[in-house]
Amino acid sequence: MNIILLGPPGAGKGTQARKLVDERGMIQLSTGDMLREARSSGTEMGKRVAEVMDRGDLVTDEIVIGLIEEKLAGEQGGGFIFDGFPRTLAQADALEALLDKLGQKLDAVIEMRVDDEALVARITGRFTCGNCGEVYHDALKPTAEPGKCDVCGSTDMKRRADDNEESLRQRLMEYYKKTSPLIGYYYAKGTLSRVDGLAEIDEVSDAVRAALAKA
Ligand code: ADP
Ligand code: ADP
Ligand code: ZN
Repeated sequence: MNIILLGPPGAGKGTQARKLVDERGMIQLSTGDMLREARSSGTEMGKRVAEVMDRGDLVTDEIVIGLIEEKLAGEQGGGFIFDGFPRTLAQADALEALLDKLGQKLDAVIEMRVDDEALVARITGRFTCGNCGEVYHDALKPTAEPGKCDVCGSTDMKRRADDNEESLRQRLMEYYKKTSPLIGYYYAKGTLSRVDGLAEIDEVSDAVRAALAKA
């Protein structure tokens, strides 16, 4: 089963994607993570996109479609969770064509609904484990021991350069201008489900499970 998690920055896409990976052995494809990896390994592309990302603008369709194409070719089985992709209609079309080529289809698109006010608090308190990628929050999902990952024990905690209020505002602008039309698009295609992203993390997971059971 291949699914998209759709929602604004901070909606909880990454958090839910990790749970699906653990529970179902699905493969998480996060274009945000791929781009950050390219940045930190200092590739030409990474250097080119760094400024764009820090500003909160979208990276070009060409770059992210290329990244997804590469990953799809290299991975098999389990099903894909697209997290943070597609973000434009052009990316949605490209995804359909890529899946088609592999003889696969998109089974469900889950829109995670949250209100904008909650996003500022979520984004400004977010940090992740640099070793295993577990996602935390200062107030909403703290580690059991300060500074130490519950999952792997690492103390290498990271905060993103773009997780500040100014960049978030720009990311929201990009979301409403370019990404939110995908909601109507997938609704019309009959693949859209909606979940309340403001609920507790485990309740959101239950709602995601229920939506996938119906897909
Ligand atoms: P968030 O978790 O806040 O939704 P991501 O980690 O998905 O953010 O993305 C971080 C940044 O990476 C975006 O603001 C954008 O600059 C870039 N990016 C990630 N995915 C895409 C995409 N599919 N298309 C264009 N830019 C992207
Ligand atoms: P996205 O990938 O959509 O940008 P994340 O999964 O990274 O979102 O979540 C953003 C922040 O909000 C993180 O700090 C995470 O711990 C927290 N968070 C995620 N889901 C919830 C939830 N249902 N309730 C409270 N906080 C949450
Ligand atoms: Zn960890």
